[in-house]
Amino acid sequence: MKMKKIMNNQLIAQNLIDCLKREFDLPFAIDVLNKNKETKFRIFPVNDDESLFEVNIRVRDNIRFNATLKPQKYGRCFVSSMEHADDSMKAVFKVVVKELITAGCKVNVNLNDSEVDPLEINSWPSHWNKIEIYVTKSPFIFIEGSEEEINNFLGISINVISLFLSLVPIERTDNNKILYEGDANEIKSRKYERNPVARRICIDKYGCRCAICGFDFEKEYGEIGKGFIEVHHIIPVSAIGQQYVINPENDLIPLCSNCHSMIHRKNPPYLPKELVNLKNKR
Ligand SMILES: [Zn+2]
Ligand SMILES: [Zn+2]
Repeated sequence: MKMKKIMNNQLIAQNLIDCLKREFDLPFAIDVLNKNKETKFRIFPVNDDESLFEVNIRVRDNIRFNATLKPQKYGRCFVSSMEHADDSMKAVFKVVVKELITAGCKVNVNLNDSEVDPLEINSWPSHWNKIEIYVTKSPFIFIEGSEEEINNFLGISINVISLFLSLVPIERTDNNKILYEGDANEIKSRKYERNPVARRICIDKYGCRCAICGFDFEKEYGEIGKGFIEVHHIIPVSAIGQQYVINPENDLIPLCSNCHSMIHRKNPPYLPKELVNLKNKR
């Protein structure tokens, strides 16, 4: 394999590590193996020497993208926390599956060694011993290493990793540090605001600008503001006082830190249009 291509692959791996750190606030490591017509990226979270899971992505003959996700040796607790994912987390998982399908990928899930429908997660068996997820895309154009090809590769890879991460209760810590007083509903709602996969779905849809005032951190502060925005979970009126399953595509909006603080000045929070009205009245 040509030297240039090998260097390119290292660069892509570094790019992916940076994206994963930014998106999930989690440190990942990647090994790159170059064989004749195949490049293999082995991606795993760096976690006190315990391997929880790894994702293997193979790009073969430049036309096939093949990713497998498997919990590792110490992944037992990881699988059992996935097994206990609540309905809102399952809804997030479903959105990620749909995004991958829209991007032309095929998603297969093997649960306890039997194939299950990735879009019918509520019908999966309730006890999980073993889960493997396969994502393939063919043809997959990855020839020149152009910016478009690399972005495509990164986008799909991040979605693949999101599949696993959508089902475990991880939270970002760099945002929304202020703890608001709230009832059980609001505390639960805040959990989804910090869920990195739900957050990414929201930003993919609306971009990184405040949905109330249009504030853009990168525009105002330059590089350090890049990708920075808070995510707010609109609690639908119908959901108040009820068991409620999040709709990750409609219930989340990006907000700047000011608007986010203001929208939580009452409980349940103001609706976005109420806050816009208050702001416009000034
Ligand atoms: Zn704002
Ligand atoms: Zn909020």
